[in-house]
Amino acid sequence: MRLSQILISTLREDPADAEIPSHKLLARAGLVVKIAAGVYTFAPLMWRVVKKFAQIVREELDREGANEVMLPIIHPKELWVSSGRWDRYVTDGIMFTLKDRKGSEMCLGPTHEEVMTAYVNAQVNSYKQLPVNCYQIQDKFRDEIRPRFGLMRGREFIMMDAYSFDADPKGLDVAYQKMHSAYCRIFDRCGLQYTVVQADSGAIGGAGSEEFMVIADSGEDAILHCKESGYAANVEKATSRLPDAPPGGDVRPLSKHSTPDVRTVAQLEAFFPGWVAGRMAKTLLYKATWKDKDEVVAVMMRGDLEINEVKLVNALDCLAVRLCTDEEIQATTGAETGFAGPVGLREQVRLLADESLRGRTNLLTGCNQSGYHCLDVNLGRDCRMPSFHDLRLARAGEGCPISGKPLQLARGIEVGHIFKLGIKYSKAMGATFMDQGGKPVPFVMGCYGIGVSRTPAAAVEQSFDEKGIVWPVAIAPFECVVAMLDPKRPEQQALAEKLYAELQAAGVDVCLDDRALSPGAKFKDNELLGFPVQVFVGRKAAEGGVEFLVRKGMVKSECAAGEVKAKVLAALGR
Ligand code: ATP
Ligand code: MG
Repeated sequence: MRLSQILISTLREDPADAEIPSHKLLARAGLVVKIAAGVYTFAPLMWRVVKKFAQIVREELDREGANEVMLPIIHPKELWVSSGRWDRYVTDGIMFTLKDRKGSEMCLGPTHEEVMTAYVNAQVNSYKQLPVNCYQIQDKFRDEIRPRFGLMRGREFIMMDAYSFDADPKGLDVAYQKMHSAYCRIFDRCGLQYTVVQADSGAIGGAGSEEFMVIADSGEDAILHCKESGYAANVEKATSRLPDAPPGGDVRPLSKHSTPDVRTVAQLEAFFPGWVAGRMAKTLLYKATWKDKDEVVAVMMRGDLEINEVKLVNALDCLAVRLCTDEEIQATTGAETGFAGPVGLREQVRLLADESLRGRTNLLTGCNQSGYHCLDVNLGRDCRMPSFHDLRLARAGEGCPISGKPLQLARGIEVGHIFKLGIKYSKAMGATFMDQGGKPVPFVMGCYGIGVSRTPAAAVEQSFDEKGIVWPVAIAPFECVVAMLDPKRPEQQALAEKLYAELQAAGVDVCLDDRALSPGAKFKDNELLGFPVQVFVGRKAAEGGVEFLVRKGMVKSECAAGEVKAKVLAALGR
């Protein structure tokens, strides 16, 4: 292809709203153009990138026997009501909804479990037709609270979503493992540095869920990992060895003390010498929301540790939690903020505690009275026995749950997610097949997503320099550019055309930069656009010489025209 025929408009400046390198570079290179928050046009060169990535995804999924389909984007409300998800998605505000001219409610698909389950349920009647795995590559719509970082978090974005249907959990394990392998091959082929981490399965529950994370400083996800054991988990899900705290000792009688204006763990440590944070139980009040109600709950955590709100949501099986306001705390405990505790807590308030407090004696806690705390509180004696759960936020430096070595923190961009759903959707939607005994049983499902527009952005985040993008060969808009520095000069034109034809014939995905730009602008543009191999035909064309650039590392050399083909193929690793 000739670049003179392709719509290319690189900019001098980064757009004002771009915060991270990939967004700045993709916008400055004119590869993505915003039309609304989180809504982008893909320019011709970027569309080539996306199509190449999508093709890699297709090849690797097809190799595992998955079927490509295309599901509708517009879904009727009834389908989402049948799975029980309509209210939640509407309350969350994540779903774009609309009404047709008859007033029927519909939505733009944020994900497709419902539609795919309905489709497969209508097609598959018998265990003999299983297993089935169907996927699509399509636009998804989510009204994200904070669309940002360009393609990373769009409101309209491209996703590959696959759904597997098996007769039993063993079948699901096989399907899941196949997808896991396919994902590894996909991201390997793109030359990405990634880790597979344990992920929170959220309210969906299920037997397992892993995320594929591209490691990058700008990543929105935090990962804790251990090189020694290979343990890696999203912080939302991670666990660690419980840090030591001084033992509480033999049970002593409770005592109540005046602690005017002493509210925080640090203030209490200063007020009661010897009572370090590890001997305290702090009590935080949360407002939890379920589908049909709100409730204030009290959550106890050892004083030196933090609460993981994702784990709290899971323990409560609710939709969301948030910390209570001062007014809500006062209304619930009768005391000001900073004095809540298990002692004297109203019976109606549900009391949860982290596992770190199980069996601990003689704690320092609040007692729901402004200006007072209690020493030597023993759970079950001085207050109700709370229900214990793992609610603790694992932190860097704490021991790996497997090796005990300090956990390291890294940031990641979630490019893929695989999920064992089990029978959650099939059961809710009554999607069944006849098993060997002729009995209807629900499909055992898995679901799998890849960010098809996010992954190329993540690739840029991992591969750029001060001059611009450095595309991995597999998804570069073109593998190679041959640029004539002065298209008006016949010898440059002739040599560039010759090399272009030669490289095309050798199977290189090559473009010809025949645009009427100054040589300086051409160098800059091509560096910014990031083609992996660049051949510049300039003044030396008369003697049959060209300039050769390997974009990664900006490795420049000169060579004779006759050597170009071999050098390009070598640089592309062929
Ligand atoms: P996130 O935690 O980043 O919001 P998610 O867990 O909600 O993502 P999934 O439902 O698992 O996303 O979607 C599958 C994949 O689609 C994700 O792994 C991610 O790569 C991509 N993706 C999700 N949301 C967006 C978005 N708003 N813009 C671009 N890609 C997205
Ligand atoms: Mg996800």
